[in-house]
Amino acid sequence: MIETFDVIVVGGGPAGGQTARNLSKLGHKVLLTERYESFADNNFSSAGMTLVPLDEFKIPQSVIGSYWKNLKIQCTKDEYAWTSDQNKGVVLDFGKLRQFLADEVKVNGGKVLMGHRYVKKKVIQDGIIIDFVNSANQKTVQYKAKLVVDATGPVRKVMYNNKDDQPQMVLGSGLEYLIKVDQETYNKYKDNLIFFLGHKWALQGYSWIFPMENKILKVGAGKVHIKAKDQDKTNKTTKKLTEKVIDEYIKPIDYEILDVHGGTLKYSPSIKDTFYKDRVVAVGDAISTVNPLGGEGIRYAMQSANLACEYIDSFLKTNQNTFDKYRKAWRKKNLLKWQICELSSKRVYIKYTDEQIENRMKFYHDNASYDEFLNMLFHFKFRKIGLRIIQVFKTKLSYKLSGKTF
Ligand SMILES: Cc1cc2nc3c(=O)[nH]c(=O)nc-3n(C[C@H](O)[C@H](O)[C@H](O)COP(=O)(O)OP(=O)(O)OC[C@H]3O[C@@H](n4cnc5c(N)ncnc54)[C@H](O)[C@@H]3O)c2cc1C
Repeated sequence: MIETFDVIVVGGGPAGGQTARNLSKLGHKVLLTERYESFADNNFSSAGMTLVPLDEFKIPQSVIGSYWKNLKIQCTKDEYAWTSDQNKGVVLDFGKLRQFLADEVKVNGGKVLMGHRYVKKKVIQDGIIIDFVNSANQKTVQYKAKLVVDATGPVRKVMYNNKDDQPQMVLGSGLEYLIKVDQETYNKYKDNLIFFLGHKWALQGYSWIFPMENKILKVGAGKVHIKAKDQDKTNKTTKKLTEKVIDEYIKPIDYEILDVHGGTLKYSPSIKDTFYKDRVVAVGDAISTVNPLGGEGIRYAMQSANLACEYIDSFLKTNQNTFDKYRKAWRKKNLLKWQICELSSKRVYIKYTDEQIENRMKFYHDNASYDEFLNMLFHFKFRKIGLRIIQVFKTKLSYKLSGKTF
């Protein structure tokens, strides 16, 4: 006899964990599955964000690695810094976040199955049967549900039986070192979220230093895999760039590498993903929720989970399929913003010279307050900055017309 659930969620990332957490809280019988034995095994995300998601998703203090106050952007030549004496954001422990969500599922009466890899699905008249392989003994187990949630992130393993069925994707990848440094070095970085742009420290993307708990830093580099016309003909890799940031920028007296991890992001331009098909609902990176400019994805993965849960709950209660509205609602809220970010990412990471990047950063630094800049970077509020650009452009033009220099 196959054990039966209302919903099986495949993938224990932020999207899957939040979906299973919500649905189990609503009283549905939920199974959350993850291919890794432990969330410590694929602790790939830098998990930097503002303070907003803490309240939005009731994320507890226990999963916070560190707070940050200042934001710095180091270009090839100059550094642009926005500072504050207030906390502006956090860096989470990604493993602890996912463990917290899975624990909530259990508290709500749901079941969590670690170390089980999804392999195939079979849609039947009154539900769907899923096969998992136990990573420890390679045995196959089957479960049945009314719906299955594809929360497998960039691989989109459940929604599509073949890779060829997937829409066209842009690939991004990132590598990160978790390092333990001396106290003096840590103190220099503990309040700062630092991003690196331009050819000296990055390659078709950006590099970063994020603070974690005492003496621990996350240092990494990420790139977009787009073939540029005059592609940088260097042998730079995200590994070499990460090591360069450690050795030539941080220059710690001494350091120990605690972990090396990384991951990929696959984004479908204009969000062409399938959100629902044949009893499969997709959430998170499986529907390109990750922002194509900054690669911030945890908040949006969890937002998509909250939205999907409204339609899943309604389906389970009324048996009515309204998942087309889920896709419409998500795209209505995010498509335009994501398309603007797609364009910006192509410009900043692929097209611009170091000088152009430097000029843009200088403009933002001279014209945007810290909160305005954060609002643009993390909340995609471009209006105020847009108006400022028009204002500066108008002033320049009137100076030009009057024969004066700006
Ligand atoms: C290097 C890097 C740095 C990042 N930094 C940040 C950051 O600073 N801030 C931020 O907000 N976002 C960041 N992101 C993005 C963010 O981590 C993702 O957008 C987010 O994790 C997406 O959540 P998800 O649940 O949709 O997918 P994922 O987190 O990818 O979760 C998918 C889960 O499904 C599991 N899975 C896959 N296949 C199977 C299978 N066959 N069977 C069972 N389980 C399976 C995987 O093991 C995984 O646990 C970063 C990403 C990378 C790669």
